[in-house]
Amino acid sequence: MNELGEIPPRNGGRKVTGKSIIIIGAGLAGLSTGCYAQMNGYNTQIFEHHTKPGGVATCWKRKDYVIDGGIHFLICHRQGQSIYELYRELGTAQPNRFLDMTTYLRYIDETSMRSILITQNLDSLTKELKAFSPTDARTIDDFMVGARALQGSDMGEMGLSKPPELMGFMDKLGLMWKMRRVFKYFTGKYAKSVADYGRTFHDPRLRLLIENLFLPEVPVWFIFMLLGLLADGHMGLLEGGSLNFVLPVEKRYEDLGGKVTYNATVEKILVENDRAVGVRLADGSEHRADIIVSAADGYSTIFNMLEGRYVDKEIEERYRNWKLFRPLVMVSFGVAREFTGEPCLNIIKLERSFMVGNKPIEWITIRIFNYSSKFAPVGKTVIQAMFETEWDWWKELQKDRPTYEAEKERVMTEVLERLEAHYPSISSQVEMTDVATPYTWWRYTRNHRGAFEGWLPTPEVINTQVKKTLPGLANFYMAGQWVMPGGGVPPCLYSGRHIVQILCHRDEKPFSISFP
Ligand SMILES: Cc1cc2nc3c(=O)[nH]c(=O)nc-3n(C[C@H](O)[C@H](O)[C@H](O)COP(=O)(O)OP(=O)(O)OC[C@H]3O[C@@H](n4cnc5c(N)ncnc54)[C@H](O)[C@@H]3O)c2cc1C
Repeated sequence: MNELGEIPPRNGGRKVTGKSIIIIGAGLAGLSTGCYAQMNGYNTQIFEHHTKPGGVATCWKRKDYVIDGGIHFLICHRQGQSIYELYRELGTAQPNRFLDMTTYLRYIDETSMRSILITQNLDSLTKELKAFSPTDARTIDDFMVGARALQGSDMGEMGLSKPPELMGFMDKLGLMWKMRRVFKYFTGKYAKSVADYGRTFHDPRLRLLIENLFLPEVPVWFIFMLLGLLADGHMGLLEGGSLNFVLPVEKRYEDLGGKVTYNATVEKILVENDRAVGVRLADGSEHRADIIVSAADGYSTIFNMLEGRYVDKEIEERYRNWKLFRPLVMVSFGVAREFTGEPCLNIIKLERSFMVGNKPIEWITIRIFNYSSKFAPVGKTVIQAMFETEWDWWKELQKDRPTYEAEKERVMTEVLERLEAHYPSISSQVEMTDVATPYTWWRYTRNHRGAFEGWLPTPEVINTQVKKTLPGLANFYMAGQWVMPGGGVPPCLYSGRHIVQILCHRDEKPFSISFP
């Protein structure tokens, strides 16, 4: 068997159509796999653990409020980027209203009482950064040159539109040619982590700011890419929230003839003679298909559903050593208050930290859902705080439900106190509260150790091509954030497309797409 998951043909090269596929998981990757497979004549069905689609891209209702627990911003939400065409193919561009995100975030340092808006006007952003730290003017110029250089790039064309497994020498050459103008911004000091690059700033406050534009571990070019997209107007907000982005993809899949079964947790992937042949669900029922695709959590797929029988050193090493997205606590409030003019994303360096588990919480991210009427009744708003936390501590705590619930309540009170400093009287306006912990993410989506976006996209990992097959196991593929380091909506959607491109190649038929 080779990297495309194929066994030498026994059919004399005859074209094969109408094969059946079972997909595990109706997150974005699973639904995407299903849509493209249906478009290409495969008969598919999806088994999903939860009661609704979307995985980590989800919303839930509390009282009159809608809580969005997922996607903060959608890149390439407007025409002109190939990623937008991906949204169109999957039927989620047209019914949704994507709103332009003109300010990425506001950074607030409570300790120095400084704040700065990261806006799409890179000239004024440069000025603001220089005013923030005049001694760093030269390094700021260097940083902004990179952001400007990535403007005008088609992100989908930078290695996502064709699966790496099918790329030949000429494709790679073509890719390098397309990237020739910007290539240098992906190498050298820009390929290092933002934390490393940040050491070149004199002012430690500026260093913290730059590190917290996303995560300190990501390569510098990742921030260039975000700022370039922001400046080009290719960063959007979901007017209807994450779930409304997902539901049209589920509809597209069903319109194409696919079927999703919810409340259906796969416990075991059935294997005969080193070929995946089906799945066994938690209710004991068995279902068979020609091909199995897991778009579910990587660890449980490999080590539980397949009992760790198809691993090599590379996989073992990955699951032992690669860093994961640090899990989150997310505290949402429904408040009888408007937040007119406030940026929807805020990063706050707290003056007064608080303890959660063994970790002092020094930073919180605040999301304010003031850009759409879909989240709260008129005159009211959802405001959400989140911070990084420890998996083991919460996992242990949830075994004692009353203590777990009491801790959630305490954390909520701590957060509200911090919000009071920015929004006086907010405590008296709270009508709804909701606290999600890493365990909540695990319970609903099964992501390993609450890592809501999979592998942390460090410079070492982000460019690694993770194989979508497992060694020695035929007719089996993996899609989603555990094979696309760093996760994110476009890579996860593309991963499903890639698998179907590989299947079509394997079955010697052209890959077709259609639009709804
Ligand atoms: C708070 C937050 C903010 C984010 N912000 C952004 C952003 O701004 N921009 C962006 O692009 N991305 C963002 N992301 C990331 C993005 O949403 C994810 O990377 C992507 O949605 C992951 O999709 P997936 O299908 O690979 O995985 P998942 O969403 O995890 O889907 C896997 C599915 O498999 C199911 N499953 C698991 N085990 C089983 C089993 N045994 N049997 C059956 N089903 C099973 C799960 O229930 C789940 O539905 C964010 C994510 C979060 C949580």
